Amino acid sequence: MPFARAGLAVDRVGVLPLDAIGPCDKNGAMAGRFAPSPTGDLHIGNLRTALVAALLAETSGREFIIRMEDLDLVTASPEFEDRQIEDLSSIGVRTTQEIVRQSERFELYREAIAQLTASGDAYPCYCSRREIRAEIEAAALAPHGNLPDGAYPGICRDLTASERAEREAEGRKPALRLRTSGETYVVNDLVAGRFEGGIDDVVLARADGVPAYNLAVVVDDAAQGVDQVVRGDDLLSSTPRQMHLQRLLGLPTPEYAHVPLVLGEMGSRLAKRDGAITLRELVERGETVSSIRDAIAESIGCQPAGNHPDPFELWAAQWSLDRLAREPVQLSNFALSIETEDDAAS
Ligand SMILES: [Zn+2]
Repeated sequence: MPFARAGLAVDRVGVLPLDAIGPCDKNGAMAGRFAPSPTGDLHIGNLRTALVAALLAETSGREFIIRMEDLDLVTASPEFEDRQIEDLSSIGVRTTQEIVRQSERFELYREAIAQLTASGDAYPCYCSRREIRAEIEAAALAPHGNLPDGAYPGICRDLTASERAEREAEGRKPALRLRTSGETYVVNDLVAGRFEGGIDDVVLARADGVPAYNLAVVVDDAAQGVDQVVRGDDLLSSTPRQMHLQRLLGLPTPEYAHVPLVLGEMGSRLAKRDGAITLRELVERGETVSSIRDAIAESIGCQPAGNHPDPFELWAAQWSLDRLAREPVQLSNFALSIETEDDAAS
């Protein structure tokens, strides 16, 4: 059943202060979320996924929260955060909850990292990207088992104390990796169906101390009472890693809905070459916000809202997840004039 909560029977035995943060867990209500990185304007595909996330939360009786995944302080900016929230709002995706920023929660991630270190599930890794790439290429012909593509080949997993000291003496600063042993996990995805995938020794914290994406997401979802994760299906293959971290940290596993991506003309991920792909670019080309909003809504199985005073309310009353196509959609299928650079030249 789509909204069965059986997966939440996992005991909350983690030592993380789950009641310390987030309005949702305090009153027992659970939440869905949309979690963009504020590193640019959201494109049509992102906005579409956000609308699915907000509608699925609403129609399943959940709170809806927006979380800014701004771990990388170099590329994230408050200006993009404001623009994203504005664009989301203009297609009807809004939250009544406070916006949470990962950049303000490093303390919480460090607690989780300390817990994994204490349990022997983490080890320092001194490899450069180049060394890892060379090792992966050298091992390319060897059997991979269930490891995901580009999996860390385990170079530093079993370094002796003196080998570590040697690298420290060279002035190398280690990242921290998760110690895994070929586990596989099955995701029963609400959209993608059954997916089985392996895990690898992912980075938990970068050499500069910044916590890694997979760790932060797992900690935040639990701390914010998120029991429903809707996101692009490019993240489906990362889900087994996150499920493993949930198990190690004693945190519940949410239900997952991985939404097929919107693809450009060549069947690849949306990019600049596909023409106007953000709401703002489309507005510059003369589209109205309501026509863009309706085109996104139609692409997930909603009726156009036209002049309806509250489009989101209208859609929530008629929409269900089975209206969503299980295949990727082409940008050209949207009822929008999206001129590519090639078109413009001809
Ligand atoms: Zn290493």
